[in-house]
Amino acid sequence: MQFPSKLVEEAVNEIAKLPGIGKKSALRVALHLLKSDTQRTISLADSLLKLRTEVKFCKKCHNISDDDICGVCNSLKRDVSVVCIVEDTKDVMAIENTGQYFGLYHVLGGCISPVEGIGPAELNIESLLKRVAEGEIKEVILALSPTMEGDTTSFYLTKKLQAYSLKMTSIARGVPFGGELEYADEITLGRSILSRTAYEF
Ligand code: ZN
Repeated sequence: MQFPSKLVEEAVNEIAKLPGIGKKSALRVALHLLKSDTQRTISLADSLLKLRTEVKFCKKCHNISDDDICGVCNSLKRDVSVVCIVEDTKDVMAIENTGQYFGLYHVLGGCISPVEGIGPAELNIESLLKRVAEGEIKEVILALSPTMEGDTTSFYLTKKLQAYSLKMTSIARGVPFGGELEYADEITLGRSILSRTAYEF
C-alpha cells in the first residue's frame, strides 16, 4: 500500500495491529478521522487511554471492573455459593446477557496451553483455590471452551478442587457452541447453564 503521508501510514499500521482489522479497514478509519471533527479523534484517543490506564480487574473474580471489587461480586442479589469458572471477561458478558445465572464468577484469564507456554501459574488459579478454601462456595461450574485447552484446564481444576467437598458441574455440551462461548446465542447458553451436569472425569 502506497501512502501519501508518513503520518497516515503510521496511523494505519497502528490501527491494523488491532484484532480483526486489516489494512484496508485501518485506512478507512484513518481517513474517516481525518474528515471528522478534531474532537472526535481526541475523544477516541482519550477513551482508549483511559481504558488502558484506569480499568481495573476485580480483586475477587478478576473480571474487568471500574472498582476494586466488581458489580457482580459486590451485589447482594447474587448467590455466593455458586462460582462459574470462565476464561475471559467476554464469557462473563455472554453469560450475564442470558439473564439465567445468578451466582458469582472466576475469570481465569485463559486456558492451560503448553503450545502457547501458558501453564497453571499464568492463570488466576491460586486465587480460585483460595476462594474455595474460604468455604462459602458449594458449587463450581466449569464453563470453559470445548477445546483441548478448555478440557485440559477443566481436568486440572477438578483435580485441584477434589480436596474440597464441592459440587462440580459443567455447562451442558452437545449444543451448537460454535467452538467459543462468546459466540453461543443467549438462549442456547442460558439453557446450557440451567441444564448443567455433574462434571465427568
Ligand atoms: Zn468480581
